[in-house]
Amino acid sequence: MFCQNCGAEINDNAVVCVKCGCAVVKKEQAQLETKVSNNLALAIFSTICCCIPTGIVSIIYATKVDGLLKSGDVNGAKDAAKKASMWAWIGIISGAIFGVIYILLAIIGEAANNMQ
Ligand SMILES: [Zn+2]
Repeated sequence: MFCQNCGAEINDNAVVCVKCGCAVVKKEQAQLETKVSNNLALAIFSTICCCIPTGIVSIIYATKVDGLLKSGDVNGAKDAAKKASMWAWIGIISGAIFGVIYILLAIIGEAANNMQ
């Protein structure tokens, strides 16, 4: 395998890199330590402030991330995190669009009232 610090080829059983002296992290261990943001805060924000249906989908994906990471499925965790973020943003953007439409309708309604 290769040192993750300097890239030197080292023995598979080595604990410390012979070239740079850096502690060697085994590949599986490195994957387990990979942090994948679960986007749960974004999902909850989207649900509360914008759009409940897409927010719930987002929360479901966000809550899957940590479990997938623990089971060692880093790609699955990344995929779930990506979907959580995507659904959260769909909710936030559609919430913003509906908000703008609502304000425009309110302004038009107000203007119509003033004309009478
Ligand atoms: Zn090294």
